[in-house]
Amino acid sequence: MPKWWETEPIRFECQPDCFKCCMKPGVVNFDRGDIYNAAKFLEIKTSDFKKKFLKKDFGVYEMELEEGQVCQFLTMQGCNIHPAKPRQCQTYPFWKENLRTRNHWELTAGFCPGIGQGPVIPPEEIKQRLKDFRG
Ligand code: SF4
Ligand code: SF4
Repeated sequence: MPKWWETEPIRFECQPDCFKCCMKPGVVNFDRGDIYNAAKFLEIKTSDFKKKFLKKDFGVYEMELEEGQVCQFLTMQGCNIHPAKPRQCQTYPFWKENLRTRNHWELTAGFCPGIGQGPVIPPEEIKQRLKDFRG
């Protein structure tokens, strides 16, 4: 049976100067590839990147944002590591938990103003984003 988002058009376009998802309490995961890409982009060693920006929790490297905090990579111009941002950020809002049902998606739309805007995102692209970040 097809997923609901394979039969209903989904529009999405990240809104300029929004950055809500970079200011939301939670955890941003960095896997080995994410760490390599971000460190390379910043021209520092992966070990230094981990030491400076991440903490290790149960073997997983992550950045934790408490209530009222913003991501340490967020600047007035946007994400400071945009071309090398982690897959979790690249794939938002197309996460498994947000796409589970249309209701989950609508709840996500209550937070993310980019949902419902811009072009229709083809199901193949949604599948790819789900594959890129399994959450
Ligand atoms: S909340 Fe949505 S529109 Fe706002 S920055 Fe994040 S992805 Fe873009
Ligand atoms: S890494 Fe970049 S895109 Fe991800 S939360 Fe931080 S500022 Fe936002």
